[in-house]
Amino acid sequence: MNKVVVLGGGASGIMAAIAASEYGAEVTLVEKNHRIGKKLLMTGNGRCNFTNINLKAEDYNSAFVCDALNSFSVTQTIEFFKEIGLISLAEDGGRVYPASGQASAVLDVLLLELERRKVKIICYFDIDKISKSKVGFEIFSKNKEKIYADKIIASFGGKAAPKTGSDGSGYRILESLGHSITTVSCALVQLKTDRSIKGVRAKAKVTHKDLTEMGEVQFTEYGLSGIPIFNVSRYAKTGDIVTLDLMPDYSEKELFEYLKTRKAQKLETYLVGIVNKQLGQMLLKECGIGKLSKNSKELKEFEIEKIAKTIKNWRFTVTGKMPWENAQVTKGGIRLSEVNSKTMESKLVKGCYITGELLDIDAPCGGFNLQWAWSSGYLAGKSAAGGGE
Ligand SMILES: Cc1cc2nc3c(=O)[nH]c(=O)nc-3n(C[C@H](O)[C@H](O)[C@H](O)COP(=O)(O)OP(=O)(O)OC[C@H]3O[C@@H](n4cnc5c(N)ncnc54)[C@H](O)[C@@H]3O)c2cc1C
Repeated sequence: MNKVVVLGGGASGIMAAIAASEYGAEVTLVEKNHRIGKKLLMTGNGRCNFTNINLKAEDYNSAFVCDALNSFSVTQTIEFFKEIGLISLAEDGGRVYPASGQASAVLDVLLLELERRKVKIICYFDIDKISKSKVGFEIFSKNKEKIYADKIIASFGGKAAPKTGSDGSGYRILESLGHSITTVSCALVQLKTDRSIKGVRAKAKVTHKDLTEMGEVQFTEYGLSGIPIFNVSRYAKTGDIVTLDLMPDYSEKELFEYLKTRKAQKLETYLVGIVNKQLGQMLLKECGIGKLSKNSKELKEFEIEKIAKTIKNWRFTVTGKMPWENAQVTKGGIRLSEVNSKTMESKLVKGCYITGELLDIDAPCGGFNLQWAWSSGYLAGKSAAGGGE
């Protein structure tokens, strides 16, 4: 019997183990933590947004994803979870969550399925080194334990949220087998900006270069957060400008005309009823139109124009990103040209399959990253077990 060892018990590794077992392999799942699936419990704010019914291949950074998504689609994923005991519900934007509202439910049904399939799980095995022989692989832990495998599935994850186990060690291990890694950076993470406004939330249209995202922005002591900011963080670099439109339903001209009709009042309340009070005061200060205690009837037309312009196009300079601990995913990873997208097998190391976030694949918030983990894991498991191309 084909002995497949899955290296890393995250979303993609668990799915790879289930698929390999389904296709007849003897499967061992190896994990360094005391338990598998630690990151899954944190996903979707504890609710696990595990896929998205509106998913398109273009949601990802590369068309490499197409073969895996075709081999295990969104519909198949939802059906698979239903079969193993998890009913799901789709919400706004096509985001799919367990009906129970608990990320732990996703992990629980997966654990039951692994048990049903008699997948052997070895925890506290911190993989340090892999060596390839003519007949297979030897996997060594930091404690010098050793496991043999005919085929391996590398599901180490990337570097995001290292407390869950994905500390980037997979890159070093796969590099030692001859693979190369593109530049990696944290993504789906908060942005540090040139100014801070603590504890305010506002709906806004966020623009960074060609990318526009709508949603709730959180203003924090370090900069900006919230789903639109996370999505922009996939591309934003230090020194870039991110602009916020706080009144996306109004044109600048409409806003200007409306502001001119505002009743006379102190500037400190001039924008109340239009934008969050604290934000409004900050914005007015930045427009450089004098003290907030002055009366709005003293505003000149060009000053009202400036206020309208700033509400529509408030510029924040990116000064950095929050660290890996805060990031939801990794941008970059194992170079895609080194992997066969039809099987997930390495083109450089026969018998070595690679899944999930370890590869140079990422996508915005919305269930796309977990779908990649399920699809790539499934395809790798099936292929490693001999059900491939
Ligand atoms: C806070 C948070 C919220 C998220 N929410 C969502 C969401 O709602 N929807 C969504 O689609 N995506 C979400 N994501 C992203 C998603 O969770 C990941 O993209 C996905 O889990 C990646 O799966 P993976 O199997 O590739 O890697 P991981 O889940 O990171 O799993 C890697 C596993 O390998 C183990 N490992 C690593 N190195 C070694 C080693 N040397 N030896 C042994 N074991 C090792 C790790 O301990 C870990 O268990 C979220 C991420 C975070 C951090």
